[in-house]
Amino acid sequence: MRVTKSFTLKDLNSGQKIIIYGAGRYGELALRGLQYLKLQPMFFADRFLAGEERLGIKVIEPSELQNYKDDVILIASYNHFYEMLSFLQDNGNLYYYDILELLKLNYDECILSEYLLDEKRNWQKYEKVIETVVKKGLIIPHCEIVITECCTLKCRDCSDLMQYYTHPENLDINEIIRTFGNFLDSIDGLSELRILGGEPFICKDIYKVIETFQHSEKVKRITIYTNSTIVPSDEVIESLKNDKVSVHMSNYGRICSKLEKLRSIFIQEKINFYVHDYEKWYEIGNLEKRNYSSDIRDMIYQNCMQGKCHTFYRGKFYLCPRSAHGEHLKIFKNGKNEVVDFTDNEIDINKKRKELYILLEKKESLTACDYCNGLNANSKMVEAAIQLEHK
Ligand code: SF4
Ligand code: SF4
Repeated sequence: MRVTKSFTLKDLNSGQKIIIYGAGRYGELALRGLQYLKLQPMFFADRFLAGEERLGIKVIEPSELQNYKDDVILIASYNHFYEMLSFLQDNGNLYYYDILELLKLNYDECILSEYLLDEKRNWQKYEKVIETVVKKGLIIPHCEIVITECCTLKCRDCSDLMQYYTHPENLDINEIIRTFGNFLDSIDGLSELRILGGEPFICKDIYKVIETFQHSEKVKRITIYTNSTIVPSDEVIESLKNDKVSVHMSNYGRICSKLEKLRSIFIQEKINFYVHDYEKWYEIGNLEKRNYSSDIRDMIYQNCMQGKCHTFYRGKFYLCPRSAHGEHLKIFKNGKNEVVDFTDNEIDINKKRKELYILLEKKESLTACDYCNGLNANSKMVEAAIQLEHK
């Protein structure tokens, strides 16, 4: 049973307009599905992009959806599905739908970037999030495990703060497997496990993490994020040959020196991968303390696109990588309810579940937000991957 119905052509009554709630990746996939059905939405609604145009369509504030209570609203988000659904229910919108059937449509996929294509083909991930809403289970949409602080690049604007590490370390893989196992024991499912660093292929034992968690029924999908500068060992390549696993290859241009080599290996070995071209990044600023008022800080957090970038680092679960690394770099100390610790040998699962629920539903800003510009549609854009000197 599900609380939302998937939108199909039959659901559209004459005279109803269609609005896609969420103008990000899933918004674009919803649009392509609608276009295949020869339908055109009137707007996107998205608080991060309101006032702009996306793919030629105007983006409105979600608050304006109250003017469209009898029109069709499609919930096109994965990370914010539950929040959006609650918002529509509170708002009195009657005709809201999920986009699962639109994701499954069989249209010419050439119009999609590799990144979007990967999301579309993994529609089970979105389905899992919808199911979670009903079961009220503790299913986390995604979580990033940091396996190393070492990187082959030194990006001035790395949002994960790797540029600040003067003595970066490869983390203890057995400890990662043990503590992340504690985390998995405490939740009901994880739609996507992301493995990253630094550069995760620096870590020769990465295959142990991939092999361990691809056998976990709770983990639905594993993605490795690489900067395309290292060709991993045969042992690592072998671990990538699994339907559950795919590789996200970042393309920052010439510095991604092994991109073509990796592409040909992955094609030859039938490994799932996609290349994401990055020309610009949002800049979220240095680590200086800003001294925001608490209202401003909460507002920055609530509008921040990175506020649900769940990060598992050194055995602890955080809402944002800046929260994790800022503390380890001794820039600040997180408050009591900003991190859940899975490092103990014996964990009390019920206690950890409660702590996770509290953290995941947190509305007030994090300590880290006072050391950050936040990330929203108005954030300054900078050239991606500008390099600093390696010391
Ligand atoms: S490649 Fe750049 S952005 Fe990615 S982890 Fe390394 S320093 Fe950070
Ligand atoms: S504003 Fe807060 S949640 Fe957003 S990136 Fe900065 S520290 Fe993370």
